[in-house]
Amino acid sequence: MPRESKKSKVARVTEFCHRMDELYGEEPSALDWSTPFELVIAVLLSAQTTDVAVNAVTPELFGRWPDPASMAQANAGDVANVIHRLGFFRTKSQHCVECAQMIMADYGGEVPRTMDELTRLPGVGRKTANIVLNKAFGIVEGIAIDTHVFRIAQRMGLTRAATPLAAEKDLLAVIPQELWGGVNSEWIRFGRAVCTARAAKCDECPCADLCPRRPVLHGAGKSKGRRRK
Ligand code: SF4
Repeated sequence: MPRESKKSKVARVTEFCHRMDELYGEEPSALDWSTPFELVIAVLLSAQTTDVAVNAVTPELFGRWPDPASMAQANAGDVANVIHRLGFFRTKSQHCVECAQMIMADYGGEVPRTMDELTRLPGVGRKTANIVLNKAFGIVEGIAIDTHVFRIAQRMGLTRAATPLAAEKDLLAVIPQELWGGVNSEWIRFGRAVCTARAAKCDECPCADLCPRRPVLHGAGKSKGRRRK
């Protein structure tokens, strides 16, 4: 198969982003939060667990420790008791407290607004920082690559990268900057509903005409059983 030109890839992914925006652009955040600090904590807690599970524990968590000042004083064991239904709750509770302590000590009690500063916070990686910058401050510096975005980018032939960081670079090179902000939340919804991890629903996909995977599944007598991952 001939190598796709960058121009063609940009056109394809731009149209894909517009369709994602039409389908999922109006939907509110799946995580419950009301301040930048709450968003940092909610996203930090959401690693390896569902947003529903996070939303179930944050009312008590934010009720007891609503801001960096109070969370910085919290006992990590007490925090762990509140979030114990989440995976990795011991590490996450430690990160909640240490994160708040650094915000108090280094940033005057305010969640910082740059990628470099945010990724200094314990438990905050580039993915979390991208989400916080985008949702809390309207700043778009990159694209948060979670498992859904990573998978869709690979299936769509937009990256062959082995790591989220390298995949982000590939996406930033072909997606127009004004569309970066919607990618994470919209592609996650698409990844849960249609382009699912176990069995992509290509037959009902509204973007099948933009995806190189579809001909592999349905073209030239290829077996449906030989799906590419
Ligand atoms: S055609 Fe299939 S693999 Fe491609 S984006 Fe749609 S659901 Fe995902």
